[in-house]
Amino acid sequence: MTTCFNCGRELKGNSRHVVVCAGNKNISKENARILQINHKVGFEITKEYLDSLYIKEEKSLPELSEILKISFKEITHVLDYYKIPRRNQKGAGKKRAIKAKATLQEKFGVDNVSQLKSVKEKNI
Ligand SMILES: [Zn+2]
Repeated sequence: MTTCFNCGRELKGNSRHVVVCAGNKNISKENARILQINHKVGFEITKEYLDSLYIKEEKSLPELSEILKISFKEITHVLDYYKIPRRNQKGAGKKRAIKAKATLQEKFGVDNVSQLKSVKEKNI
C-alpha cells in the first residue's frame, strides 16, 4: 500500500492526489514527486546516493528501478531532478555492441558481421 507523503492517505493507482495535496502546502509539483518517491522507498534518495549507484557502479536504469522498487519513470524523474545526466544512447549502444561481438565470436568465430561470408555476399 502506498500512502501520501503529506497526509498519509492511501493512494490508489496513479492518483494525482499527491500533487494536489502538496500544492495545498505550496510544495511544487516537482518537489512533491521527489518527496513522494522518498516516502515510497522509505529513505531520502540523495544525489550522492544516485551518483554512487548510477555513475560509479554504472547500474542501469532498470537495475536502479529494481533496487529502489520504484518505477522507471520515477527513476528518470529523480535523475532529472538532481540534474544527473542520463547515460547517452551511445554508451548504452556500446555495451550492447560488446555483447553482440561476444555472441558473434562464440557462434561464428568472427568479430564483425561483415566477416561472415554469407553476409559479405549479400552486400555485393
Ligand atoms: Zn495527501
